[in-house]
Amino acid sequence: MKLLEGKTALIFGLANKRSIAWGITQAFHQHGAQLGFSYAGEALEHRVKPLAESLGVTFVEPCDVSKDDEIERVAAKARETFGEVDILVHSIGFANREELQGPYYNTSREGFRLALDISAYSFTALAKAFQSMLRPGGALLTITYNGGERVAPNYNVMGVAKAALEASVRYLAYDFGPQNVRVNAISAGPIRTLAAAGVAGFKVMHRQFTDYAPLQQEITIEDIGNTAVYLCSDLAAKTTGEIVFVDSGYNILGVPIPRGKE
Ligand code: NAD
Repeated sequence: MKLLEGKTALIFGLANKRSIAWGITQAFHQHGAQLGFSYAGEALEHRVKPLAESLGVTFVEPCDVSKDDEIERVAAKARETFGEVDILVHSIGFANREELQGPYYNTSREGFRLALDISAYSFTALAKAFQSMLRPGGALLTITYNGGERVAPNYNVMGVAKAALEASVRYLAYDFGPQNVRVNAISAGPIRTLAAAGVAGFKVMHRQFTDYAPLQQEITIEDIGNTAVYLCSDLAAKTTGEIVFVDSGYNILGVPIPRGKE
């Protein structure tokens, strides 16, 4: 059964085959969606274009989401190409590497601004740019991390950005409700991607994750893709403003103790 047949989905945030956006892309493709990509800029073109070609996707547009004119350009191009859009996926995050280590209080004013702008505000900016071309029954989706709700050492300003992103999901869900467009986030457990590599200590945390998580299983980009299909399909027709965890249950723990050492 194909859950996204007849739907057009634009995916922002594809960098390479390890990207969460690629897991979502593959799942959307399997479920029959018509796809379009937007990526950060020229430096990624040689990686993103072959991935798009492998699925026969021809809408592949650069867009630095920190620039309003680039967002406007890609929205105009989407309108010209597709007319209307059903699904918009925001799988984008960025903070300077020096902000992702040591005490949070060392965060610079500019580092704070940049992380919040690219990782949180851009979702709202994209929602606004695409608002008038989203079909009823459509969905907006972003990717967050539990570091927005709890302290994850070194995640620092990205945690603050994720908190803002999650609050944006709820406000946008309210705004888009009357046009029957849903807005949700997936809170993903740790996955080894380019973005994750920038967080100090990520490797150690990732290695230990399955010792603590109730399901004792690593999170894959395919896991995120499957939940993304559900949230963006009519199966989730009455779900909006939610943060859905795909983390092998890690977030339910109050006292994380490795299995066997209880
Ligand atoms: P990734 O590095 O593959 O993806 C991050 C994307 O953000 C890249 O495609 C990058 O080009 C894009 N980006 C950065 N700055 C941009 C800008 N100015 N304009 C446009 N695009 C820009 O890593 P990922 O792990 O797939 O990250 C995707 C999302 O998932 C991020 O929001 C990240 O915080 C979130 N997330 C990741 C994990 C994890 O463990 N990997 C866990 C939870 C949430």
